[in-house]
Amino acid sequence: MWCGVRRMKDRVAVIGGGIGGTLSARLFTILGYEVSVFEQSDKLGGCAGYFKRDNLTFNIGATTIGGLFSGFPVHRALELLGVPLNENCELTISNPTMTIIRDGKKIHLSPYISEWEEGLCYLLEVKRACIKKLLDMTNRVLKDCLIRPFYFSFHSPKSALKSYLTGLPLFLRYHTLYYTPASKFLKEILGSSEQRVSEFFNSLTLITAQSTINKISALTLLLSLGYVATGVGSIKNGGDSLFNRLTDSVEVHLNTKVLSIRGINNNRAYLVRTEQGEEIFERLILSFPVLENLSVLREDWQLYNYFKRFESMKSENSALVFYGISTESRFAPHILLITKETLDGITSGIYFISYLKQRDNLFTLTISTHTPIRWWMDNSIQSKYSYIKKFLMERIAEIVTSGLNTDTSKLRVVDLATPLTFKRYLARMSLGGIPITMEQPISKILPNVTPFRGLYVLNDQSLFYQGWLGLSMGLLNLHEALKDEKL
Ligand SMILES: Cc1cc2nc3c(=O)[nH]c(=O)nc-3n(C[C@H](O)[C@H](O)[C@H](O)COP(=O)(O)OP(=O)(O)OC[C@H]3O[C@@H](n4cnc5c(N)ncnc54)[C@H](O)[C@@H]3O)c2cc1C
Repeated sequence: MWCGVRRMKDRVAVIGGGIGGTLSARLFTILGYEVSVFEQSDKLGGCAGYFKRDNLTFNIGATTIGGLFSGFPVHRALELLGVPLNENCELTISNPTMTIIRDGKKIHLSPYISEWEEGLCYLLEVKRACIKKLLDMTNRVLKDCLIRPFYFSFHSPKSALKSYLTGLPLFLRYHTLYYTPASKFLKEILGSSEQRVSEFFNSLTLITAQSTINKISALTLLLSLGYVATGVGSIKNGGDSLFNRLTDSVEVHLNTKVLSIRGINNNRAYLVRTEQGEEIFERLILSFPVLENLSVLREDWQLYNYFKRFESMKSENSALVFYGISTESRFAPHILLITKETLDGITSGIYFISYLKQRDNLFTLTISTHTPIRWWMDNSIQSKYSYIKKFLMERIAEIVTSGLNTDTSKLRVVDLATPLTFKRYLARMSLGGIPITMEQPISKILPNVTPFRGLYVLNDQSLFYQGWLGLSMGLLNLHEALKDEKL
């Protein structure tokens, strides 16, 4: 493994202790730096963390870790970081990965694409040969784009050349898919534009790409479908063990909100101000939702202006997350429930349900759906907040019990996180990273290496997008870029 020339004295500050922050803290530690993580809340994990109530553990948001099969990005990232799978953190790959329920029809998707044909034919009611073609293409795209390492950074002539060299074969092979709208591609390949087909793919792309098929390319669509086959697992007791493992040799400052950052000495160092005082670091990794907290950069107009350019790319959606308790686990640990119940546009009508086992016959549930941020910005909503919360919790309990065909006595919704909750606890409302769409191609997204010396970004608002899989790709990309910097 490459370690560069170690400069034991360089100090690195990581701002934000979510997936991006803990992965990058570990990377810089193994490269020989002295790393400090600043996290405003009382726990690591961010959107992928957990909370406890009445001795039960609930996942806050993220429940699945994709990309765990050998060669896929999370597997590669954990190997690079010296945290192999199953070491301390009880990470298991789910099989089936996901149960999909729509209009009373139910299919189980295993982690292997070769086993999906029959289920998808049944659910989508399209010809088997068409499904086979779609799945063959998905398999190929996964191998080429997620298993084969590639690099995307244009911060120096050397890195640009390296990006072209690793990216060119992919571009030559997939440029048609990259420029073809997903909806057109689906119509051509499945020979059907029926609503059930678009509804199914929209629900998958909404949870994996944060966008619908009319905005994304055929390539993104195939990657979204393929996500289920990358080795999707979860951590037995919530994310705590993995976050602790990633930061076990790092100085972690919890309950420490960073108030401002500015470059000093021509960005040879950065001054980080928190409620507790000020410190100087040679390198800085922004792993908090910087595009939603540009005020942190207000003392440095160069930094502020640079990041401001990307602000409008944030997702317009946030999440509504219902937390519940169940005395039975229905089907897979993860269920995608596709309904038309959007509650007048407050939700997408697609509910992703995950079970976390507590003890025999007792599970906590995290049920997430999308919600438009603009709906929650209205002052009148905020004045009726507790009434709305109660209403939503009751309705969601009905939708989920009826969708799962279960008994109301076996499932109880106990709380709800709205965009306002996420704002309060995690300093963000826009959730799900920067959607990679036809209008916002990868080349426009905030890069991992900024033009400022020693300043990097690894969060879900930067390359390569959200979740464990996207952030692991970002980490691998950052690692390659650091090699070019000749540390
Ligand atoms: C409901 C939901 C379900 C999801 N499901 C999945 C899933 O199943 N699988 C998956 O892989 N991904 C999933 N995701 C996406 C995934 O959770 C996120 O993309 C990922 O957790 C983002 O990590 P991050 O480190 O970029 O940011 P965050 O998780 O937002 O972490 C940033 C951290 O920075 C801290 N912070 C903010 N401001 C400051 C400051 N000024 N000073 C110090 N600290 C600060 C915050 O408290 C936070 O802990 C889901 C997301 C949501 C919302």
